[in-house]
Amino acid sequence: MHTHSTPVPDAVTAQLRIIPRDQHIISRRQISQNALRVLYRLHESGHEAYLVGGAVRDLLVGLVPKDFDIATDATPEQVKALFRNCRLIGRRFRLAHVVFGREIIEVATFRANVDDGSGDREVHDGGRLLRDNVYGTIEDDAVRRDFTANALYYAIADFSVRDYTGGYEDVQNRVMRLIGDPETRYREDPVRMLRAVRLAAKLDFTIEPGTAEPIPRLASLLSEAAPARLFEECLKLFLSGHAVASFEQLERYGLLPALFPESAAALASNRSGALRAIVLAGLASTDARIAAGDPVSPAFLFATLLWPAFCRTWMKLQADGVHAVEAQRRAADRVTLHQLSTVALPRRFSLPMQEIWLLQARFPLRQRKRVTRTLSHPRFRAAFDFLVLRQTASDAHSADVAFWEEAQHDPDNAIALYPGEDEADGEADAPRKRRRRRRAPVAAG
Ligand code: ATP
Ligand code: MG
Repeated sequence: MHTHSTPVPDAVTAQLRIIPRDQHIISRRQISQNALRVLYRLHESGHEAYLVGGAVRDLLVGLVPKDFDIATDATPEQVKALFRNCRLIGRRFRLAHVVFGREIIEVATFRANVDDGSGDREVHDGGRLLRDNVYGTIEDDAVRRDFTANALYYAIADFSVRDYTGGYEDVQNRVMRLIGDPETRYREDPVRMLRAVRLAAKLDFTIEPGTAEPIPRLASLLSEAAPARLFEECLKLFLSGHAVASFEQLERYGLLPALFPESAAALASNRSGALRAIVLAGLASTDARIAAGDPVSPAFLFATLLWPAFCRTWMKLQADGVHAVEAQRRAADRVTLHQLSTVALPRRFSLPMQEIWLLQARFPLRQRKRVTRTLSHPRFRAAFDFLVLRQTASDAHSADVAFWEEAQHDPDNAIALYPGEDEADGEADAPRKRRRRRRAPVAAG
């Protein structure tokens, strides 16, 4: 795609609506001190300066923004000259970062033309890299953005909100609406489909019908997106406190196969719904942890999201005659490898994810020595939490959960209380095999 040949759709004619200070709810008290400092300094230096994007949108719906982005007519070099604590980043698009300890205020010069911000593709025309990174007016800057709700500007000059795309009304009506022709905008950057779903889930907005309609049709375009970018997008989808809502929206708009093809296939063929119940339980507990301020890990999240794929692959390998233990190891490797082509999960997360899966097979083993080893595994706690999730979908795991609950306090008492199946376990091979084969279907349930 040539961004110079698909500029902002003609239909979009930016028409300014100004919402004065006394007619909107944004107050300076809700804006970070550092962002205010940058806004004022730019303004005092004779530049235009606006808070823009997600922060304005979030403030208008009463949320606390994660970060504060600023748009200005000052060039990056001019911004740099104004702030000692400023560094310029980006190759194709230079941005200024003003650094205040741990808070970074991003300052972007108004840009014209379409950029999806993805860095996914270089823009070539007959092999020539086009330098179409032209600065533009605030109107240009507004209409290149994705959703109307994301294209509002809070002016430090008079504390008004400037609206060039009808975003103010859309925010009031809680609607996600793409700027311009939806299909064109999704083709420019398919990740916008995920952003539509994610922001609707986060903000509890509906997706305007014209914006929603192309998504199921164009979902497969996501295969063009960079897997590393999709990984980042997944973290935002599932580790921002709205994982259940995000998952349900992805299902609804047919986006699940684009992100997790093997899990989507496994979920579709799992008629009992047990796998889906496990995934939803995992996502609900992730949301609950975030609400409680507890830490969450991408490894556990992906162990949850890819569990259906893992179970399905594991069962297939066993059906092909691979021994249960070996089948498990191979399934973990295979699912991890296949997943890389859509959402690139870094190894520092995929290794612990695999450990969480493989530890599941150790939970039925209650021989003293094995119990000690399982308890001392660095991933024990995460794997136990995962076992609890599986129990929500199947009673088959309640004895294991009770045992390991007790074993964490007093392993000997646990063994005495729940002798389990392990007398038969020993080091002997035959009984173990028999038992595993019996347990295998349970894993999928
Ligand atoms: P949040 O930070 O809550 O996830 P956000 O809207 O701030 O949401 P960012 O990724 O931080 O999302 O992007 C900042 C702004 O940049 C957006 O509000 C939007 O105006 C613009 N933007 C981001 N991604 C795109 C895109 N793919 N296409 C067009 N504009 C985009
Ligand atoms: Mg943001």
